[in-house]
Amino acid sequence: MDERECRLRETIVELCREMNRNGLNQGTAGNISARHGDRMLLTPSATPYDRMTPAMIAAMPLDGDGTAWEGPLKPSTEWRFHRDILRSRPDAQAVVHAHPTFATTIAITRRSIPACHYMVAAFGGHDVRCSGYALYGTEALSREALKALEGRTACLLANHGIIAIGESLEKAMWRAVELEALAKQYFYSLQLEGGPVILSRAEIDEVLKGFASYGLRSDAASPERGGPAS
Ligand code: 13P
Ligand code: ZN
Repeated sequence: MDERECRLRETIVELCREMNRNGLNQGTAGNISARHGDRMLLTPSATPYDRMTPAMIAAMPLDGDGTAWEGPLKPSTEWRFHRDILRSRPDAQAVVHAHPTFATTIAITRRSIPACHYMVAAFGGHDVRCSGYALYGTEALSREALKALEGRTACLLANHGIIAIGESLEKAMWRAVELEALAKQYFYSLQLEGGPVILSRAEIDEVLKGFASYGLRSDAASPERGGPAS
């Protein structure tokens, strides 16, 4: 195993623990993957994150049918959408899936998140789409996820949770955290009389231009150290 693979495995475990610590996820829900050459490294299924070790992370070829994995534990039940996203999105080096409360609440109402805050542009467009519903772990869910992710770096999964992708594990987790913050703000704005005022396409286009170079700094070691690029 090369040094990069060791580092990726360690980072996956750290981020799994982090997402449960910071309230983005709970229990054994969620899963994380990273591209490593022509394979993906993926969290094992239903394994408590505080007991997960780098050696427990599964490795699966990206061009396979999910049967040829390596590792001591069964890979995540969501290996299909992780594999399909990494296969079809060369911009994605990592995929984070979680069940955060506010984003999942919005996904339960089957709504997309509109441009209620300029940060919607951090996900590549004018909204964060909610996918159609499909059973967890299925090819149908993977198809729905890919559709909702078109031209975007995150989506909601109907009655389920979120997916965020990134050029690195840290960047994917940064997006997952930002998406939950956006969902929380949108949720609260829906409680107030009049509801949210949605930004126009032109207003978001302006933000998108600036966001071509905005996001978690690639030299940041952890999501907390992220901030606007100068
Ligand atoms: P796994 O424990 O199999 O990764 O499943 C968790 C999950 O979130 C399924 O959607
Ligand atoms: Zn899930």
